[in-house]
Amino acid sequence: MAKIALTGASGAMGEETLKHLMASDKAHSVKILLLPDAHNKRFGAKVKKMYGERVKVVYGDLVNYEDCKKLTDGAEYVLHVGALIPPGSDHNADRTRKVNYGGTVNMVKAAKSQEKEPKFVYISTVAVYGNRNYMHPFGRVGDPLLPSAFDVYAASKLRAERFVLESDLKCRAVLRQTAMLHKNMLMNNVKDGLMFHTSWNAPLEWVTDTDSGYLMKQIVDSDVDGKADGFWQRVYNIGGGKDCRRTGYDTFDGGFKLIGGSAESFFKPVWNIPRNFHGLWFADSDELEKMFSFRHDGVDDYWQRIGKMHPEYSVAKIMPSNLIKKLVIERLLSDENAPMRWVKEKERAKVAAMFGSTENIDLCPAEWKDYPLLCRGELVDGSVDYDLIRDSEYAEKQGMLLSHGYDESKPDEELDIEDMRHAAEWRGGKCLSESMIKGDLHTKLEWECHNGHRFFSSPYTILKAGHWCPECCMPEPWNFDITAKSIPFFAQVWYDTHAKNENAVYFFENGKPAGFRQKDGVSCRI
Ligand SMILES: [Zn+2]
Repeated sequence: MAKIALTGASGAMGEETLKHLMASDKAHSVKILLLPDAHNKRFGAKVKKMYGERVKVVYGDLVNYEDCKKLTDGAEYVLHVGALIPPGSDHNADRTRKVNYGGTVNMVKAAKSQEKEPKFVYISTVAVYGNRNYMHPFGRVGDPLLPSAFDVYAASKLRAERFVLESDLKCRAVLRQTAMLHKNMLMNNVKDGLMFHTSWNAPLEWVTDTDSGYLMKQIVDSDVDGKADGFWQRVYNIGGGKDCRRTGYDTFDGGFKLIGGSAESFFKPVWNIPRNFHGLWFADSDELEKMFSFRHDGVDDYWQRIGKMHPEYSVAKIMPSNLIKKLVIERLLSDENAPMRWVKEKERAKVAAMFGSTENIDLCPAEWKDYPLLCRGELVDGSVDYDLIRDSEYAEKQGMLLSHGYDESKPDEELDIEDMRHAAEWRGGKCLSESMIKGDLHTKLEWECHNGHRFFSSPYTILKAGHWCPECCMPEPWNFDITAKSIPFFAQVWYDTHAKNENAVYFFENGKPAGFRQKDGVSCRI
């Protein structure tokens, strides 16, 4: 019976994790960390009432080491799920950095300070991969990590997961969580300009909150039974598989059906950004399913469940679509997180990052009939079978997966210094170490990037997890227009949605988005 420490328990994934752990006979008790605010105190009281002594509440903050220490004291497993997520992270960049990166550093140090070191699971995010479109809709662990400009959430999670990977915790794992369907999703979405950040054609592989929570419980259960040895020291993608692969457009459409509407009846195409989002379909999300068998829900099951949970949504069905559009959606166009507001207020750096240029906004079709939608098999330069391209085996056969720059057909135990050299070259740099023990992916080697920065990282972090130079390839600032010119590993996907003559470096200045561009007027695919 395991003692578990859990962060983020009052969030969507954390609450489901707690619920499933409480139903497990392998979990002795779960200690949770909650912020001492009114919402969390109500949550704390609720779970104490439901689960009694098996739940212990620590009121505190991830940014305080002592609170993390209290949480991890005596734990055998640490499930670090908690983070400041969008839209909250979009409104408070500073706190996001402190909670997501600083909080993770605290959690790792607290875990390491224990007499008996707990096993550590870190929940990272699909957002670390950055933007994708139909040209490379599939991704896998090891792909380039190119968080979107001004996405402090993704940048802070990227730094945090690298810290976990490069820590010498004996049992650690990083799980990159995909877009998650949760019980408050529809209502949360209509409260913030964040809803306009979803690109219509962005590939998204969903998973539900329930399945994600169940996965966490399965990991603990299997490990307690001694069946999860191969799981540790690795990075995974969490995704719902083929049945959960959608695009931004058909996801919105499914949700709005519940209230009698559709994406077309509520939105204009130009309201949502065409790039600088995040999301992909996972070529490797079946790995966790094979190990832990956690999937029960598809996207359609989820919407049915939400419809049953919220019968009041159907009341909206008697309202004309244009009234909902006016009252709910259009009102958000002037929200400070809405792209149309950035356009109106001439926030040049954000407009450049999201649209490529102001000219591109005028090029966006005004009517849906003229807008190429991937979920209908329409491309800007042709057509495609939407069912077929969502199949990862088809994508692999078509050569649509990105290269990681070394011989991936070799088993891990056969990888040697030559593979390190090839991988470094594909990243525009060098492996400075002259030798390694064949197959040892966890002893750090020395590397040099194209800018001459030297750093030590494990072969696993570089070849298998997709990280590279911690100085010039980890935002902030976001300078992938520049680095992609010297790093073929980045270039193979960067130019799917960026023009070669873009030369922007995106950064915050005095807390405001700023950017530097040498040339303007570039094009961007939708
Ligand atoms: Zn560098």
